[in-house]
Amino acid sequence: MKITYTDALVIGGGLAGLRAATGIKQRGHDVILLSIVPPKRSHSAAAQGGMQASLANTVKGDGDNEDVHFEDTIKGSDWGADQDVVRIFVNTAPKAIRELAAWGVPWTRVTRGDRQVVINAEKVTLTESDEAHGLINARDFGGTKKWRTCYTSDGTGHSMLFAMDNKAHEEKIEVRERMEAMSLIHENGRCYGCVARNLMTGELVAYIAKTTTIATGGIWSYLRHIYKRCYLSGNGAGYCS
Ligand SMILES: Cc1cc2nc3c(=O)[nH]c(=O)nc-3n(C[C@H](O)[C@H](O)[C@H](O)COP(=O)(O)OP(=O)(O)OC[C@H]3O[C@@H](n4cnc5c(N)ncnc54)[C@H](O)[C@@H]3O)c2cc1C
Repeated sequence: MKITYTDALVIGGGLAGLRAATGIKQRGHDVILLSIVPPKRSHSAAAQGGMQASLANTVKGDGDNEDVHFEDTIKGSDWGADQDVVRIFVNTAPKAIRELAAWGVPWTRVTRGDRQVVINAEKVTLTESDEAHGLINARDFGGTKKWRTCYTSDGTGHSMLFAMDNKAHEEKIEVRERMEAMSLIHENGRCYGCVARNLMTGELVAYIAKTTTIATGGIWSYLRHIYKRCYLSGNGAGYCS
């Protein structure tokens, strides 16, 4: 069997996998990303609502900050969420939104002046300040205390995925698409990579890595069940509170 060695292996080419691989590469490590589908066809493209971050740019976001976002997220999880992870998430979200803007995500922006919205089935006029004009907008989503869902019209996941994929190309990340991870290679509680199948040729390839990230989308717990031992990574881009 062909064996390929790398510093880091990322399984999955959705938003989570692309972002993880980009971070790894930017820190100077070699990384190979495996994906069944070409990354731009990953399910992340389907997300529409948006990504939460306490930017507080709009009139309905006034007074928002990481602590309010934290509280909302913990309440929203019925106190089930890991609070350390939520803290990292809410503190990082505003930076991530701006970083994604720099990487090409065309976030919908605030327009100064009046606009009509519907709140609790009633038409309400909101007035955005001159200072807010052009800043990243946020809408109401997910029952949060403040409006903090950043979005790109109704194509948030699509535009984020395309921007992330372009960034991965820019970073020259080795993306091996049509490669399906079949089995993790592990011994004594440590993961050494995986065996993957080339879906075009049927060839099996062993990827040996110092670290393996599983970012295979919503079905990861199923994979965990199958493989018994899965290491690293959260699931999903995790961009909603
Ligand atoms: C219609 C819809 C609307 C949504 N709206 C929102 C929203 O508004 N806000 C929000 O926060 N979230 C939303 N979500 C959820 C969000 O889109 C997902 O949680 C997130 O995009 C998952 O990203 P991911 O990278 O983990 O997985 P995915 O984008 O699903 O990527 C999984 C990747 O893993 C690869 N893969 C899978 N198995 C293997 C394998 N064995 N070997 C190799 N590669 C493999 C696939 O090829 C793919 O590249 C929405 C989801 C949907 C479907």
